[in-house]
Amino acid sequence: SGCGICTKRCPFKAISVINLPEALENPVHRYGQNQFELFGIPAVTSGDVVGLIGPNGIGKSTIVRILSGELRPNLGDFQDPPGWDEIINHFRGSQLQNYFQRLSKGEISVVHKPQMVDRIPRYVKGKVEDLLTGIDSDRTDEVIETLEIQEIMGREISNLSGGELQSVAIAAAALREADFYYFDEPTSWLDVRQRLNAVKVIRSLAEAGKSVMVIEHDMAALDAMSDYVHILYGKPGAYGVVSNRRGVRVGINTYIRGFLREENVRFRKHEIEFKVKPPRVGEEGDILAEYTALSRAYPEFKLDVDEGTIYLNEVITAFGPNGIGKTTFAKILAGVEKPDEGKVKKKIKISYKPQYLSSDYTGTVEEFLYANAPSYGSNLFKSEIMRPFNLEEILDKPVSGLSGGELQRLAVAVALSREADLYVLDEPTAFLDVEQRLMAAKAIRRIIEGSNSSAMIIDHDIIFIDYVSDRAMVFSGMPGVEGHASAPTELREAMNAFLGEVGITFRRDKETRRPRVNKPGSFLDREQKELGEYYYLK
Ligand code: ADP
Ligand code: ADP
Ligand code: MG
Ligand code: MG
Repeated sequence: SGCGICTKRCPFKAISVINLPEALENPVHRYGQNQFELFGIPAVTSGDVVGLIGPNGIGKSTIVRILSGELRPNLGDFQDPPGWDEIINHFRGSQLQNYFQRLSKGEISVVHKPQMVDRIPRYVKGKVEDLLTGIDSDRTDEVIETLEIQEIMGREISNLSGGELQSVAIAAAALREADFYYFDEPTSWLDVRQRLNAVKVIRSLAEAGKSVMVIEHDMAALDAMSDYVHILYGKPGAYGVVSNRRGVRVGINTYIRGFLREENVRFRKHEIEFKVKPPRVGEEGDILAEYTALSRAYPEFKLDVDEGTIYLNEVITAFGPNGIGKTTFAKILAGVEKPDEGKVKKKIKISYKPQYLSSDYTGTVEEFLYANAPSYGSNLFKSEIMRPFNLEEILDKPVSGLSGGELQRLAVAVALSREADLYVLDEPTAFLDVEQRLMAAKAIRRIIEGSNSSAMIIDHDIIFIDYVSDRAMVFSGMPGVEGHASAPTELREAMNAFLGEVGITFRRDKETRRPRVNKPGSFLDREQKELGEYYYLK
């Protein structure tokens, strides 16, 4: 049977390509018999940031491992791998010929920020300042300042949070002297402001004439940092194909449309449509729940929440820096944590997806769904949850062996399958790839629009937030010390308050309507700041 997106019988269960090029020949690399195959490899050019966009398991990290010299490409011959001469000859006439020539002789220097920063403490010991000041660079102060990590310089690397580790890893990579820089998923764990700080540092390398490649699932960040993009398509886990290089705007729009015109490949049935939603007039809607002003104090942190109203059938997003009390607020709504003062006025049924997920369940995904998803097996579950979250492909896996993205999909799917008045989802896009983020956003909207419920979603991905939100609330204050949450308001108002603090402006792409970061200091950036319109809805 097929994958549900095309009607043809195809050999793949969850294929993501609808019309495949007839002949896929000459792989760049194949891991082994019946193992993943990579077709094509992008070139990096000096003074540019080249972005890679595509689902998990499609070969992005493989590309970076090949280009950084960690993995020698075998041209598909895993039994009798070719030598460098044959590899170089394979790429003759292209930029990669010269690249591999120099790489094979050890003539080029590369820096590779790995995908899994949480593994760094295993092999890097000591304090942040030992690591960063130990790298000989005349940009040390500037990079530390741009990434806003001055405060953590004295901390042990082993005690850093995920977001702090990511910023330190980006700093360490950027400070090293090299010709080629590879950043594999630099924004995981980061809040919006930190993501844009990372964008600045990565762009500064290209502006200094370096060659940079990034793998990134946050489309707003990818858009802001890249000059060009390659789209990767194929069948995750089986094979991946690298598209032609496109300018970043056209490339991301092409990705959103799901159709590669030049290559004549459709890899998604539908375009993702960004709609500019008209502001909701709150007073006209039915009220789902109201809460009074709330507060919660820990020994070192205090949260104050303004009183607010949640309307029926709306999606509210909440955003702000890390360590500002978003999760604490989610827990109060979910009833997991009691406020010191204030209360939620009406008893409502909550389905809660916590930020941190544990996978100590001993059975398979299917067993977990049987036990925890009340509607599992129904047609509605199949169409509204199973398919968008692509659960079919992980049904037989043990829950304890799931990757971060797989566990996230399962957790969000289970939360959405419960009957509830309010769905509280804390960082549902963490560890999801770009395609899964869009599918999750669509699925959430469909469920909220089709049932008598609402959702409160905490997230850091602006494109996801824009797609999913009716209204929004902003958290501000001093991370780790005090936090303040505004009442839910119109998305535009909330964005203006938030982006004003971060100091960046967005416009909308004329064709796809997706939000795009304005270049700091550009005409639009200055004009919008003057008008106080940080987030253009037009
Ligand atoms: P991405 O970065 O796009 O998520 P990767 O390049 O990490 O994808 O992996 C692509 C595919 O290759 C995956 O299916 C992965 O399981 C497989 N793969 C990665 N490394 C190896 C390896 N050393 N041996 C066999 N298969 C591998
Ligand atoms: P966010 O979700 O915005 O990153 P959190 O709500 O998780 O923020 O945390 C806000 C602050 O409260 C952090 O400094 C955190 O260390 C602190 N905090 C959270 N939970 C507790 C707790 N149970 N005891 C003490 N401090 C806590
Ligand atoms: Mg990867
Ligand atoms: Mg949190």
